[in-house]
Amino acid sequence: MQWLKECYSQVLQSTTLNLTKAFKNFFDKVAQYPRFKSYHGKPSCQYPQNCEVVDKGVKVPQIGVIKASIHRLFDGQLKTVTITKTPTQKYYASLLFDTEQETPEVVPRVKVTGVDLGLKDFCITHDGVKTSKYANPRHLKKHEKNLARKQAKLARKKKGAECTAASDLPFNGRSVGGSKSREKARKLLARVHERISNARQDFLHKLSRKIVDDNQVVVVENLNVKGMVRNHNLAKAISDVGWGMFVNFLAYKLEQKGGLLVEIDRWFPSSKTCSNCLHPMSEMPLDVREWTCPSCGTHHDRDENASKNIRAEGIRQLSVLGTRTAAEGGEVRPKGGRKSVLRHSPVNSEAPTIPIG
Ligand SMILES: [Zn+2]
Repeated sequence: MQWLKECYSQVLQSTTLNLTKAFKNFFDKVAQYPRFKSYHGKPSCQYPQNCEVVDKGVKVPQIGVIKASIHRLFDGQLKTVTITKTPTQKYYASLLFDTEQETPEVVPRVKVTGVDLGLKDFCITHDGVKTSKYANPRHLKKHEKNLARKQAKLARKKKGAECTAASDLPFNGRSVGGSKSREKARKLLARVHERISNARQDFLHKLSRKIVDDNQVVVVENLNVKGMVRNHNLAKAISDVGWGMFVNFLAYKLEQKGGLLVEIDRWFPSSKTCSNCLHPMSEMPLDVREWTCPSCGTHHDRDENASKNIRAEGIRQLSVLGTRTAAEGGEVRPKGGRKSVLRHSPVNSEAPTIPIG
């Protein structure tokens, strides 16, 4: 294991620590069985300490100063540096800083918004007064043809061992697991995927920022995204829409400003209840976009009604948890910010990322 000696010892230690944590989470039943990380995916390494941000670069042990474009000033103490390589051969460093800032106290008078996530519209929000709809940008759809073409190209390329054309062979004439032109096709495809994922993240960041800036409490449905993805008819659209990532973004942005994310049970009948008189409908097929309540005669837009119900249910749960609520004006007075309804974003969700090189 000569190559292990070339690696900085603390990087190896942090790998084992991460693995230990992953197994502990698995045995504590809070996470899935750890997944194997392929060399061809998104290789990364982590420096737990001894790193430094210097002028125009990041200094890491053994390697020294790596040139980086830094577009933000940091304060606090630099804790860990994670260096990641994307499939398009770009290097990124995630810097984790301890700012020693307490999470701000939950503000006493707050605006509560209910968010109904959908496919036609990405989300519909209702804040007690106003309903807003945000169209689903359908990133995948925009690049569908391009993806299909590059995917087909890649599929036609033979793997290294089978390639016959001299130009396909790596320079030393031996196979190293993939022909050169296959490698090239793989990179072209990876670049499209990267563009889509950047566009998706950009959209989700901007929208979550807007919602968090306008509100202090955000109520969402706890969606079983994994379960829905197993429905093959919808899988692509649901993975593309990025609800899970959106909820993570909302969670950590709210936490930063002392707000709350309330996740209500996914079985809560938000679509099937009249938000005006609480009359329960026995069924509400997906294609019904508008309906009239048989009990009070209110005409509902399906999604607007759902977001109103989600908001009301969130306020009800907060009050059950010891938070006094004046639902009329949408005022919530949380008693010392209940952790049980606070969802913490996983660490991966967004440490400031800076491109290197
Ligand atoms: Zn009604």
